[in-house]
Amino acid sequence: MNPVLKYLFLLFLISSCKNDPLKNIPEFDQNQAYQAVKKQVEFGPRVPGTEAHSQCRAWFVSEFKKNGAEVIEQEFIAKTFDGKEHKAANIIASYNIQSKHRIIIAAHWDSRPFSDQELDSTKLKIPVLGADDGASGAGIIIELSRILNQKKLDKLGIDLILFDAEDYGDDNGAMESWCLGSQHWSRNHHIAGYRADYGILLDMVGAANPNFNKEEYSQYFAPKVIEKVWKLAKDLGYEKHFVNQAGVGLVDDHIFVNQIARIPMIDIINRPLGSKTNFVPHWHTQKDDMNAIDPKTLGMVGNVLTKLIYLEDADKI
Ligand SMILES: [Zn+2]
Repeated sequence: MNPVLKYLFLLFLISSCKNDPLKNIPEFDQNQAYQAVKKQVEFGPRVPGTEAHSQCRAWFVSEFKKNGAEVIEQEFIAKTFDGKEHKAANIIASYNIQSKHRIIIAAHWDSRPFSDQELDSTKLKIPVLGADDGASGAGIIIELSRILNQKKLDKLGIDLILFDAEDYGDDNGAMESWCLGSQHWSRNHHIAGYRADYGILLDMVGAANPNFNKEEYSQYFAPKVIEKVWKLAKDLGYEKHFVNQAGVGLVDDHIFVNQIARIPMIDIINRPLGSKTNFVPHWHTQKDDMNAIDPKTLGMVGNVLTKLIYLEDADKI
């Protein structure tokens, strides 16, 4: 190669390396995410007002801070359908706080105070461990914060939000009895005038062989986000699990974020085909423990989110 061409070629190589923001994206580590789920479960059921709840909250805050996030604990009183009041807190971990172009990744971190889907009537009043229902999404979020600290985003802002008091609802009552943390946050953002482009909620994202379909309200409120996420999952070879199938709508934190905060938010949630409740069999039972968790599923969801975040940062999606 002649020297001028060689010089130009080298220059091209250097500049293309420099400009490839997708180079060196940290690997989402499914085993670290699994450990973060296990850690939460080891505190015991994270029911608002309990010792396990406050210990787990302190652990989340220290993990997020260790991972370089700016953390806000948004305290509120959760008035539950049984007439009780509980100290509760949403935890918001932010990166690139000054950026106007932001996305939210959210999950609920509390666990249900009753096992009301138990067939064994002696177990109905025992709190749920919530390895899948709560801890799986929060565990993925903790691992994402480790990654965000390892490779800093260029211009995208991210808010990792752990909503409290999602799962203290009345199964036969009003939908507003659920999702108290996201309702509070949607009415009182942690920062005045807060906006985000869109959000992704994770709920029950830890069981083996998941069936993530296109949940009805997500499709209604945020069809572009659904398309973006499902296409990315397909590109990564996960189309057997992120299925191209319309799903039945459900009450979850995303409803209130869409309706009250008017931020488009989708829900990634496992809805197994042919299940009686439309949920996983361990849902709201004593079986929602670490045996319900498959690290591969955490890895799959985590990979999709990691790619999405760094592609968004590079304006490549
Ligand atoms: Zn639940």
